Amino acid sequence: MTRWLMLWFLLAPCVAGAQQMAVTIDDLPASGARPATISRLEIAQTILEVLRRERMPPVYGFVNGIRTEEDPGTLAILTAWRDAGEPLGSHTWSHPDLEAETPAEFERDIEKNEALLKTSMGGEDWHWLRYPYLHEGETVEKHRAVRHWLAEHHYRVAEVTMDFEDYLWNEPYARCVAKADAAAIQTLHDSYLATAASFIETYRTVARVLYGRDIPYVPLLHAGAFDARMLPELLALYRSRGFHFISLPETERDAVYAEDPDFGYPGGGALTEQLMAKRKLKFPVNTKPYRELDATCR
Ligand SMILES: [Zn+2]
Repeated sequence: MTRWLMLWFLLAPCVAGAQQMAVTIDDLPASGARPATISRLEIAQTILEVLRRERMPPVYGFVNGIRTEEDPGTLAILTAWRDAGEPLGSHTWSHPDLEAETPAEFERDIEKNEALLKTSMGGEDWHWLRYPYLHEGETVEKHRAVRHWLAEHHYRVAEVTMDFEDYLWNEPYARCVAKADAAAIQTLHDSYLATAASFIETYRTVARVLYGRDIPYVPLLHAGAFDARMLPELLALYRSRGFHFISLPETERDAVYAEDPDFGYPGGGALTEQLMAKRKLKFPVNTKPYRELDATCR
């Protein structure tokens, strides 16, 4: 046996057992509050630079086209995303709440996003939908109606299976930058990583309850200013917990992602959260620092 082959046999079980995840980023080209000192383009450029430096596989950004109508300058962000070789998918045109719309209204909103995606993606596949607010329908009828339309129009659902509501930190961060409160920003930094770490375990527990194993996870992040600042450390956290990164299409090859929850779930949530609710299984106890974040830098 050659030395290389021996090395392969030693390492292969580790690789097979390594946890996988596909990072995805919502609300391109503009997400949440930002400090006045940082432009939307700089936020996106920071994210893209981290993805490049960390040699990440392609990272889908989910687009709300309406932002480019509100501020045509943000088109440059989508161009930068594509120039960096990163793919785009749909987050609907105007980020509507499916629970406040009819399926037909929601479907028109998805269609309205298509011209922009087609132009941005050229010949590449953009038929992925990330539901705004992860609201997939508060009744099973509505859920089924939209799923039926998506299948007919060749969309795949970009399901989420790990979420710590990363976007919650962007507003307090903008306030703290305005106040130049370095100590408070350090506290935001610490609580962002602590919450991300605790929700790794939450969603791994959920996967083990549902499937008896880890799955390739799809965490949900947003294109916000604090997210951009924290991305290197967040990726380092995931790596330190044994994850390595793959693309969204690779992740969703796992049979887990072929399951349609076929369930009405008011309030929405990750795929695995929906399936836990459907099967009347208890979601693990968890906390997020909602109150602390809301009170920070007021
Ligand atoms: Zn969103």
